[in-house]
Amino acid sequence: MNRPEVSIVIPVFNEEAGLDQLFQRLYPALDALSITYEIVFVNDGSRDRSADILEAQFRRRPDVTRVVLFAANFGQHMAIMAAFEHCRGDLVITLDADLQNPPEEIGRVVEKLREGYDYVGTIRRNRQDSVFRRYASRAINSIREKTTRIRITDQGCMFRGYARNVVEMVNVCREVSTFVPALAYTFAKRPVEIEVGHEERAAGESKYSLYSLIRLNFDLMTGFSLVPLQLVSLIGMLVSMFSIAVYVFVIFQRLASRGLSDGIYVVWDRDILEFFLTGLMLFSLGIIGEYVGRIYQQVRHRPRYVVQTILETEEQKQDLSRHGAAAAGASHFVRPSS
Ligand code: UDP
Ligand code: MG
Repeated sequence: MNRPEVSIVIPVFNEEAGLDQLFQRLYPALDALSITYEIVFVNDGSRDRSADILEAQFRRRPDVTRVVLFAANFGQHMAIMAAFEHCRGDLVITLDADLQNPPEEIGRVVEKLREGYDYVGTIRRNRQDSVFRRYASRAINSIREKTTRIRITDQGCMFRGYARNVVEMVNVCREVSTFVPALAYTFAKRPVEIEVGHEERAAGESKYSLYSLIRLNFDLMTGFSLVPLQLVSLIGMLVSMFSIAVYVFVIFQRLASRGLSDGIYVVWDRDILEFFLTGLMLFSLGIIGEYVGRIYQQVRHRPRYVVQTILETEEQKQDLSRHGAAAAGASHFVRPSS
């Protein structure tokens, strides 16, 4: 097989309950498009039977299936980065494994890419997630929109298309904590967005806890904006200016009342003020810490992910070493098979 036109990239973490349904819809949907394609599954250290199910699927359709098996859980975005390094298609489409985005719509994304757009974002029509997720995402989207240069309407939707030039740029990035759609967006010359359908998760539960969602959004904020840091300095400046003003005021008041200085303390509750300022300082330290922590992770230069095995045919392997980016400057570690 030669280089396929389209690579479909799917990260998989504990999805045993829904994978068969995914295969049943994904392969026919792609066959119906009459394009050449490959599907790259990345098993992100699942603790259930996902890896076995993917392996069985590779045996069934080795012509169009490749499976990258991570040695542990490195996160959805690292899984996508790994697949980017191991795929060969001219056009690359990322999709979640849970069938929340209908695979039947892949054709529409391909069409846009063929029109010459190099980044196809998607907006979920009638989003089928909990009310809390919908409102939280709307708030986060608007904060991100104001603080970064990333113009993505619906950042949570991973069903997206990228042209080869964008994927190659992402492949030379070596960031540890990142958000692939935003990173890719920074390299896109002609981005576009389309609306896509959204369904309830076919099986299993969301793999993102509230904590991991918060962490992910910090990755997005710190990875693409310095505004939080600037905000900290700005607030610090305002507070200091305010304290100078108060100081001046107190001095004047003391001079005016010649020692009887109780005046201002009537409205000046030191306990509450200290409480507030301590909170502000911790918050600021926290923001700085989010950056420092990520800098620390980055400078240690540990492998971003560890690949245990790649299931692919000999032919696919040769194709990749000829065309793919994996050959050049890999930032990951492939564990030698025993
Ligand atoms: N996923 C992953 N690694 C993780 C968490 C999630 O590869 O650590 C995969 C998961 O299997 C799914 C996709 O990322 O294919 C999106 O996850 P999920 O559907 O749970 O997220 P949600 O739709 O709730 O945002
Ligand atoms: Mg989902």
